[in-house]
Amino acid sequence: TPRIYTKEEHSIDIRLVSRNAVKVCEVLQKKGYQAYIVGGAVRDLILGHEPKDFDVATSATPEKVRALFRRARIIGRRFRLVHVVFGSEIIETSTFRAAGNQITDEQGRILNDNIFGDLKSDAARRDFTLNALYYDPIKQEVIDYHNGVADLRKRLVRMIGDAETRYREDPVRMLRAIRFAAKLDAKIEKNTQHPIKPLAHLISNVPDSRLFDETFKLLTCGNALTCLKQLRAEGLHQGILPLLDLVLQQEGSLKLIEVTLDRTDQRIRHNKHVSASFLYAALLWPLVQAYQKEEIQRGNTPPVPALVHAVNRVLDEQVQRLSLQKRHSAEMREIWLMQPRFTKITPRFIWRMIGQPYFRAACDFLQIRAACHEFDSVLAQWWMDLANASDSEKAVMIQEAA
Ligand code: ATP
Ligand code: MG
Repeated sequence: TPRIYTKEEHSIDIRLVSRNAVKVCEVLQKKGYQAYIVGGAVRDLILGHEPKDFDVATSATPEKVRALFRRARIIGRRFRLVHVVFGSEIIETSTFRAAGNQITDEQGRILNDNIFGDLKSDAARRDFTLNALYYDPIKQEVIDYHNGVADLRKRLVRMIGDAETRYREDPVRMLRAIRFAAKLDAKIEKNTQHPIKPLAHLISNVPDSRLFDETFKLLTCGNALTCLKQLRAEGLHQGILPLLDLVLQQEGSLKLIEVTLDRTDQRIRHNKHVSASFLYAALLWPLVQAYQKEEIQRGNTPPVPALVHAVNRVLDEQVQRLSLQKRHSAEMREIWLMQPRFTKITPRFIWRMIGQPYFRAACDFLQIRAACHEFDSVLAQWWMDLANASDSEKAVMIQEAA
């Protein structure tokens, strides 16, 4: 039987709970289903933080959920769930899953995760105790089958069940353990930590697209540098971030990585959006530069055509590996190709620059280059001020610069 925490015991501030998430639970409960807020949101609420998004778990099947809401669609193949849409907010609603009787491959990796179960089995199939908490926003109770509240308060990341088995089922959980430890400033419990190093190689069996998602979450968890150090210590960096090894081999790139990740952390802490394209454009820049240099030396090519060549080469090599979507690679290309143009300051040219769709991103990246002493910091700041200026201020600034 689970432990139930009352309002007084968990001290969740109901005002931090999304009205839409409450609405989803209410509608489902009125129809006789169980429905709870689950996952990261409950963790954040117990710690007194405002969650960035809300997931709901329910006894209703995806089809039933979809039928109950005006704007709802079923998504996912490996793991089917329903997106209930309210304006810009999406409440991800998943049906209780069964634990322990899924189809696995030779390494024990779960291939099919769509067998439905009850609340108890749903709690058991989640990864860490602090991720298996269910909050009923109507009764204002937290349901805890695995001592997650206690672990959360102790800042302890503890696997539910046998850690080795659970990592074999889904090797991504190794990355998640490290991410949650860094994000929550927590320790990984001993038995949860031990199997990671010996099993690190299993990461290579994970499909690229899932690795991309988890890697991006790692880099944007708000404590990216801590995460990366921990990944290296556990031998997990090779499979997931060949990118980073590659980047670190380029001379002088450590500074760039540090500055980039530090800025990312700051943005996350201020609840600002971080785009995957921007992050990867920054992290791969040293490689672009190395290839550009190579091309200049090899073919006596002028810098700008050599840059185009280098950009194409990096994208050719990395698009598949990082499982980048077309829109990502298009944005990365623009961010890179715009860099040499920041030195040209004729009015006509500047107006053309600021009209480009990725001008803002390219300008943000310019700030990183300036922080790495790769670009004049006064000029970089001028561009940033220009990006932030109103239209009339822009005209004055551009006039004065000419
Ligand atoms: P975040 O704040 O980063 O979104 P989260 O805990 O909500 O953290 P998600 O990846 O959004 O993380 O997953 C939601 C919930 O689904 C988790 O809290 C966990 O209970 C469960 N979960 C997600 N991935 C796994 C996994 N690989 N194995 C087991 N359970 C998982
Ligand atoms: Mg989440």
